Amino acid sequence: MNRNEILSALKNKPEVSVLIVGGGINGIGTFRDLALNGVDVLLVEKGDFCSGTSAASSHMAHGSIPSLENGEFRLVREAVRERNRLLENAPHIVKPLATAAPIFKWFSGLLNAPLKFFGMLDKPSERGSIVIKLGLMMYDAYTGKQRTVPHHRFFSRKKSLAKWKQLSPKIVNTAVYYEGAILQPERLALELTLDAESENPEARALNYVSMVGGSDDTIILCDELTDENYDVHPKLVINAAGPWIDFTNRKLGLPTRFIGGTKGSHIVVRHAELRKAIGENEFFFENEDGRIVLIFPLYDHVLIGTSDIPIEHPEEAQCTDEEIDYFLKLTRRIFPSLSVTRENIVFRFSGVRPLPRSTTNAVSQVSHDRSIEVLSGDWTNLRFPVYSLVGGQWTSFRAFSEQVTDKALAYLGLTRQKDTRALPIGGGRGYPREPGEVTRQIESLSAWTGVARERLKVLFERYGTRAETIATYMNGGTDFIVRSLPDFSLREIVFLAQHEKICHLDDLLLRRSTLALLGRVTREMTEELARVLGNALGWNEEQKAAEVRRTLSILADRYGVQL
Ligand SMILES: Cc1cc2nc3c(=O)[nH]c(=O)nc-3n(C[C@H](O)[C@H](O)[C@H](O)COP(=O)(O)OP(=O)(O)OC[C@H]3O[C@@H](n4cnc5c(N)ncnc54)[C@H](O)[C@@H]3O)c2cc1C
Repeated sequence: MNRNEILSALKNKPEVSVLIVGGGINGIGTFRDLALNGVDVLLVEKGDFCSGTSAASSHMAHGSIPSLENGEFRLVREAVRERNRLLENAPHIVKPLATAAPIFKWFSGLLNAPLKFFGMLDKPSERGSIVIKLGLMMYDAYTGKQRTVPHHRFFSRKKSLAKWKQLSPKIVNTAVYYEGAILQPERLALELTLDAESENPEARALNYVSMVGGSDDTIILCDELTDENYDVHPKLVINAAGPWIDFTNRKLGLPTRFIGGTKGSHIVVRHAELRKAIGENEFFFENEDGRIVLIFPLYDHVLIGTSDIPIEHPEEAQCTDEEIDYFLKLTRRIFPSLSVTRENIVFRFSGVRPLPRSTTNAVSQVSHDRSIEVLSGDWTNLRFPVYSLVGGQWTSFRAFSEQVTDKALAYLGLTRQKDTRALPIGGGRGYPREPGEVTRQIESLSAWTGVARERLKVLFERYGTRAETIATYMNGGTDFIVRSLPDFSLREIVFLAQHEKICHLDDLLLRRSTLALLGRVTREMTEELARVLGNALGWNEEQKAAEVRRTLSILADRYGVQL
């Protein structure tokens, strides 16, 4: 069903078993699991899917080493397992990531770690080699026999400086271990949504629909594209609004204070020397102030982050000049001979961690644990319970979704039929395991679709095994290269418009592709793509021009991109 069909079906039948508010990774993960288990479930997202915090992450599928210091061993073990599952189930998007931790001290943190563990130290401080070694041994133990990624290694100062020539000579050594890189989180979330809908026709997901109020047995939704309101009658509401959870509960007359969000920003830089200096390694390390920061290989660019600043209103999260100074300084600390400046920044972004409200003074010590907060009973003025999903991490979304789904199934009197542990995601289905196999698959696909090998290679990198469906579609009509964007073709864009729930031009530039993230967008491109998308989606000339204006203003205001 397309968007209009879903909305008109809602008018005729407003009853739904589960309504999920929020299309970030936690809402979408739960949507998929409920759909898989036969539940009629409706998800609404006020913007585009995966446009809130889930679009602002550090792109890591990681076991969260710093959580070891907080004594959150269960979380770390789970995150390591979930990281491995993502590598297995979404190999087209989640790739193994060698992670180097440059270390500046031998012993620091030896006393701090146990103090933090027993909750007696609020201030973060620099961790030394020995503490990191102990942490990584535990980490490897959690990876266990699976060996999805190799175990950690330590490199002496001499070997480190030989391996990374630009690295600061002030280091005492480096530790190298493996995590996962989630290269296109927004596409991963979208593919989960599409999987859910194709699995269960009673699972429907709508972007640009917000929950605006409700009482008794009714929730009021508003279509953000037309301003039209819709009533729905759910048996259960799942509030997956991330940092907006309390704002969303308030719309239902529930005065909660579950979230104590902290803002984190990143910059994307185009700097050939820095990109070469890091190789295929992420540098994940402790800055002088005790904060964990990263320099991350993002395609041919470099991602640098992140900050951790308390914030009340998620809409106000912006990457500020002070944060940029902080990122440039931390880069100089690790690679002192390289000059990375503001001119190298092509994109910046910011998001708010939906963390549980905490009493500790140090933001980096706030727990990354999660909970399902249940609100029900006469005092709520609602005839259905509301589950609020507080906390969590991108990496562990599947486990969190499973926990929420089990609870929802029990409430609805249903039993689990399927589980998601080994379930491939989107273009990860049937993805070749060996590099040679990819080439063979491309060869045979080229032979029967008639699409050139080079082009298929690009499609495979973008969409995994969904490349086959897209290439078949492309071959079904006359196709042209997009003039301002020669590695895309007209029918590829039309496919995305018709099958990937695109409502606005910025959905394509920011979330269905990496065009904006990697600083590739030009004014000419926005105009050309508005025409292509507009023709596919039935926009008139005025709408096309409005889409260009909207995109230019979003890029400038939220991402520091002036065109
Ligand atoms: C700087 C930073 C770095 C991070 N790095 C990592 C990392 O490397 N690895 C990792 O595992 N995790 C990381 N995380 C954590 C991870 O990104 C978040 O935990 C996760 O994305 C939260 O997802 P969510 O679905 O709960 O929230 P969100 O993604 O914010 O989704 C909530 C959605 O609800 C929608 N919404 C709000 N109100 C309404 C309404 N009334 N009606 C309809 N929709 C509504 C919003 O538009 C939003 O899209 C990072 C977080 C930050 C901020």
